[in-house]
Amino acid sequence: MISLTSADLPDLENAACKDFILKELFFPETVRQEIDTLPLIKSICDPCVERQRCLQYALDHDIEYGFWGGLSATQRELLETTRKKKLKNKERISELLDMGLTLEDACSEVGILVESYRTSLNRKYPQKNTTQHNTEIEESK
Ligand code: SF4
Repeated sequence: MISLTSADLPDLENAACKDFILKELFFPETVRQEIDTLPLIKSICDPCVERQRCLQYALDHDIEYGFWGGLSATQRELLETTRKKKLKNKERISELLDMGLTLEDACSEVGILVESYRTSLNRKYPQKNTTQHNTEIEESK
């Protein structure tokens, strides 16, 4: 787990949670609390205009606790695992195409359907990048 300083925190000035009183609900301490809290958190985070940046921040910093961008730590871990697996598959398919295999054969070799591969090329996953930081989100949570 990393230690966040106020200088690291993103500028999410339009965060929907900014005035939410029960900030501790965003940081469940058990899996049971995480599951119980998820519907409420989703109702706050899903319409939040800062959701993507909030999620990106947590991914950029490998934050292993709390809800960020409407996703729990468990959900973010699953998202990252899926993203890495798909990236690995794309790299392997690219290698196989370079070796002269057809797309169908390359996908078969990797064990995915051609349509799944084509769909994954168009799907956007949060990317690792640098975000703006300030203290506002910490004060709002
Ligand atoms: S936790 Fe993130 S996504 Fe959820 S309301 Fe706050 S800023 Fe928005």
